[in-house]
Amino acid sequence: MDGGIPIGRIRGIPVFLHPTWFVVFFLVTVTLSTSLGREHEDWPAVLRLGLAAGTAILFFASIFLHELGHSIIAMRHHVGVRSITLFIFGGVAVMEKEPPTPRAEFEIAIAGPVVSGLLALGFGWVAGLGGSDAPLGSMLGWLAWINFIIAVFNLLPGFPLDGGRVLRAFLWARSGNFQRATRVAANVGQWIAYGFIGLGVLQLLSGNVVGGMWQAFIGWFLLSASGATVRQAEIEHSLAGLVAKDVMSTDVPRVAAGISVGSFARDLVLRGRRWALVVEADRTSGIVTLSDVKRVPPEEWDTTPVGRVATPIESLVTVTPMQPLRDVLSAIGTKNVNQIPVVDDGKVLGAVTRDILVQAIELRGGLR
Ligand SMILES: [Zn+2]
Repeated sequence: MDGGIPIGRIRGIPVFLHPTWFVVFFLVTVTLSTSLGREHEDWPAVLRLGLAAGTAILFFASIFLHELGHSIIAMRHHVGVRSITLFIFGGVAVMEKEPPTPRAEFEIAIAGPVVSGLLALGFGWVAGLGGSDAPLGSMLGWLAWINFIIAVFNLLPGFPLDGGRVLRAFLWARSGNFQRATRVAANVGQWIAYGFIGLGVLQLLSGNVVGGMWQAFIGWFLLSASGATVRQAEIEHSLAGLVAKDVMSTDVPRVAAGISVGSFARDLVLRGRRWALVVEADRTSGIVTLSDVKRVPPEEWDTTPVGRVATPIESLVTVTPMQPLRDVLSAIGTKNVNQIPVVDDGKVLGAVTRDILVQAIELRGGLR
């Protein structure tokens, strides 16, 4: 959930509105102003709509503060926060890495629900001052209620909810095994997700279409998020202990920089390869792939040297032979490349490709 419309920075953290946010902002505003209309027919429509929109904004401000709570505690534990994004199901603070200790994990996770709980108390207190019948009072009461719900919902003990992180922190502290703790918490998360989907279907059958769909939708979102966490944990588990040189292919195709793109392409296709290292005066100067070749118009194939279209080695992502495969996997994922050269002392020893990684994951996963 990275990206969206940037709306500012706080403590150096970029804050985004995901396009789906507008859907839920619209829904919340319409629902609130409709229910205001039922309770207070005498209020003018403009007042109801303005009040509803203002309340929806405060609702999202509350979610933002919840995420900011996670973020501030994370930074205190030296876990960088890449972004905060508000989207259809609430908010998400993207952390740069996993928390360093179970204690840090617990504090980062609990900070959000604590903020929501305090907001519930605060809104409830202010609402009580004004009396709940006044226009502002009823909306503040709703904000108190919704923040309470946010706190409780997030404390459900299944990953990726905050309560699931709390559970993981406890299991991690007890067993010392982060991966296993993640798997258990994510499995609980899957059951909670199924529960939401089941409840949503029951609501649908009993005639509450919007509420039922919404609940099933949340369940589906939780299911896919916890499923991704389970798979990620399994993959990391299967790669544990392996480093780049354990799996790298040393049979790396090489091509001289002066060779024409045309003869390189024909040779490449004949050998069933998609890329090669470019060698210039006995040193590796870069890497050339099939997509580099495709950028050259066919009529220029025989006059363009491979060296001109290659990516220079300096701007390539490379790994060292002893780098854990987990790093290689995340580098391939984040840079969206198909292969990463393994470089030691400026010398290319081999490469780890996507295919090799997939094989390693399948092999190790299958052996256990
Ligand atoms: Zn949270």
